[in-house]
Amino acid sequence: MSTFQAPKGTYDLTPPRSAKFLAVREAISAPLRDSGYGYIETPGFENVELFARGVGESTDIVTKEMYTLTTKGGDQLALRPEGTASVLRAALEANLHKLGNLPVKLWYSGSYYRYERPQAGRYRHFSQVGAEAIGTEDPALDAELIILADQAYRSLGLRQFRILLNSLGDKECRPVYREALQTFLRDLDLDEETRRRIEINPLRVLDDKRADVQKQLTDAPKLRDYLCDACKAYHEEVRALLTAAGVAFEDDEKLVRGLDYYTRTTFEFVHDGLGSQSAVGGGGRYDGLSEMIGGPELPSVGWALGVDRTVLALEAEGVELDLPATTSVYAVPLGDEARRALFAVVTELRRAGIAADFAFGGRGLKGAMKSANRSGARYTLVAGERDLAEGVVQLKDMESGEQTAVPLAEAAAELAKRLG
Ligand code: ATP
Ligand code: MG
Repeated sequence: MSTFQAPKGTYDLTPPRSAKFLAVREAISAPLRDSGYGYIETPGFENVELFARGVGESTDIVTKEMYTLTTKGGDQLALRPEGTASVLRAALEANLHKLGNLPVKLWYSGSYYRYERPQAGRYRHFSQVGAEAIGTEDPALDAELIILADQAYRSLGLRQFRILLNSLGDKECRPVYREALQTFLRDLDLDEETRRRIEINPLRVLDDKRADVQKQLTDAPKLRDYLCDACKAYHEEVRALLTAAGVAFEDDEKLVRGLDYYTRTTFEFVHDGLGSQSAVGGGGRYDGLSEMIGGPELPSVGWALGVDRTVLALEAEGVELDLPATTSVYAVPLGDEARRALFAVVTELRRAGIAADFAFGGRGLKGAMKSANRSGARYTLVAGERDLAEGVVQLKDMESGEQTAVPLAEAAAELAKRLG
């Protein structure tokens, strides 16, 4: 193994591609920030208990994918595999739900860790931007979150994504369905592990990706036929609000999602250019989660969008993001005296908010001009001893190639004027 290799299933974000990740995080969070969501940051690890209880003992995330560790002090911790349980824990700890301002609307952005089999779009370290609206049961809140995610993807220029929508019922109707489903599943030809799953979390069997399993599920009882009136009415309202907002969605009865805590509304954003790792984001309502982790009853809804897969989706669609130029002015000094003079100009430009860079290391004109080209700068400032003797610098427009001598003292002001 090479010393310079990132751990299996991980990769580094390096320029220039890393700029896309920043732009995606920015684009996903912008509609949230404009909609009353406040920023929250929680630790990269939590007590393992939080996820065991909050995500669910029977989920793949907890049984197979969690990175757990015992500290020197004997604490059992886990690198966070997802955001919702941590955010809810933090909100409860800070008593945000008691400030009389429900729902508590929060957004987050960060790294998540799952011990998975690495594939294209599936990593052991990945990045999500998420949103949670805690403490209110209102179909408009479910609709708001779906609309904001749709808006975020559209603002990035993504078009080939679809929204899958389902309702998982509540604590009244879901158990009845669960039993009907178990009775159906027990008669199928399934492996041992799946049989165990039927007893622990039968809805997850519907989520099985294998074709031979899916084939047997065609006639499985449909949750839709078991929804209680309250759940039906709630779901119809979410659908109506989305339709009124012009957000297209597909009803997907098989959408159960991998986490135990979902109730009622669940949804997923899938992109058709990504092959088998097609989910770019997902979420839903989790009315029982707070109680599951020892808190009061706080019906809530949220989503998490995967930054890595969103970048892959942009690349699959060939979307070129309108990234801001990193450098507007590049300074090329020839000689020590010019170095001091141009370094001062660069500092002045930066203080005036103009992106500027400098040919460090006393390189020759040719190499430095190459760097100027690569930087994407619109203007280059070049100065040698003769220029300085005349009190000028050469200002080159990299687009037209036109070069003019500008008094050194006016260089920054002239550039500010030209760059508007
Ligand atoms: P999948 O079905 O692909 O395993 P998931 O249901 O486990 O996805 P969520 O827990 O809903 O995913 O996480 C939300 C989003 O985070 C996903 O839609 C995806 O974009 C991203 N994500 C989840 N796991 C990974 C991973 N291992 N690598 C990269 N992105 C991931
Ligand atoms: Mg998964």
